[in-house]
Amino acid sequence: MEAERNLTLLLQDTGLPTDLKHIAEKVLHGERITFDEGVLLFEKGELGYLGILANYIREKRHGNKTYFNRNFHIEPTNLCVYDCKFCSYSRLIKERSQGWEYTMEEMLDIVKKYDDEPVTEVHIVGGVLPQYDVAFYSELFTKIKQHRPELHVKALTPVEYHYIFKKAKIDYATGMRMMMDAGLESIPGGGAEIFHPEVRDLISKDKCTGDQWLAIHEEWHKIGGRSNATMLYGHIEKFWHRIDHMDRLRTLQDKTGGFQTFIPLKFRNKDNQMSNVPESTVVEDLRNYAIARIYLDNFDHIKAYWAMISRTTAQLSLNFGVDDIDGTLDDTTKIYSMAGSEEQHPGMSTKQLVELIKHVGRYPIERDTLYNVVTDYNDYQFPEEAKPSFYKLPVIN
Ligand code: SF4
Repeated sequence: MEAERNLTLLLQDTGLPTDLKHIAEKVLHGERITFDEGVLLFEKGELGYLGILANYIREKRHGNKTYFNRNFHIEPTNLCVYDCKFCSYSRLIKERSQGWEYTMEEMLDIVKKYDDEPVTEVHIVGGVLPQYDVAFYSELFTKIKQHRPELHVKALTPVEYHYIFKKAKIDYATGMRMMMDAGLESIPGGGAEIFHPEVRDLISKDKCTGDQWLAIHEEWHKIGGRSNATMLYGHIEKFWHRIDHMDRLRTLQDKTGGFQTFIPLKFRNKDNQMSNVPESTVVEDLRNYAIARIYLDNFDHIKAYWAMISRTTAQLSLNFGVDDIDGTLDDTTKIYSMAGSEEQHPGMSTKQLVELIKHVGRYPIERDTLYNVVTDYNDYQFPEEAKPSFYKLPVIN
């Protein structure tokens, strides 16, 4: 395997500092790196070095396979009782006229719009408002499943769950069981930001703490649920805060095994209270993906949201540990565009996503939410591309 050859060649480089060489040897032998080594990678690891290590792990786990899914989003509201400093999406209650608040019927209408589309997942996430409570979401999940039982409901983050369970005076274990009984099938990774209170208290003070976020995922995993995890990076945090964040996830994953995918989220600075903070460079984004792949040795997948980092960076990321670039989206999310992403109307046809992956020599695999293979597109020909098996020569009679 070429990735292994590259790593072996790297280890023969006499100019490689001893500490970085030691980490490369650990990666070659499948050994876990320590907290301090993770920080060292951020401080000293150059892009080329990190790419060789991360790609080795990526190809050992997944070969060239690159996953995506066919999904759409429902964002119930962009109003929110919280006031996270990095949020470009929410409007405070006093600016209610600038927002939307979907009713149950409006959300079910969005689901029905996809009745004839081969989507496998609905992703529901948005702001936090009192009318969206335990009873509301239970009814919504139940009605979606009644309408289309095979559609996977991936919904809400611990930010919403903590709020609605507290309001209903129920503990996390009871609440998560109620959600599962209503039809919830997995939890997306949002709301994690940076767990360490030193940073969290400055950027998103009032919502659930890092410990509460982890506790809700733990309860969900205990009853057999699967979930994802994110990290909002590239703002006021230090490198060690990122490793601290990943370390807490790695520890919980050792305990439960319930996480599927880690998704680094790049901080964008448009129209929020942290617009003075510069955004990370593409090089830093790729370094961050690579270090996540190296550090999180018990996570199966590392995902890049193409809608957030641009199509080109998403293609590049596939050489830096990423094996999943999310879904077709169909312009159903405003979270990325409102934060300043290059993609103002994010949506790609399956064919476009497949080509994006193939253009960089990887194998496109459509997956469902739980990473079961829906279609292997490696040798697939889209119907409109099918060539005639022979060409008729013109004949003059
Ligand atoms: S990040 Fe989420 S919780 Fe924070 S203000 Fe925005 S919508 Fe609300």
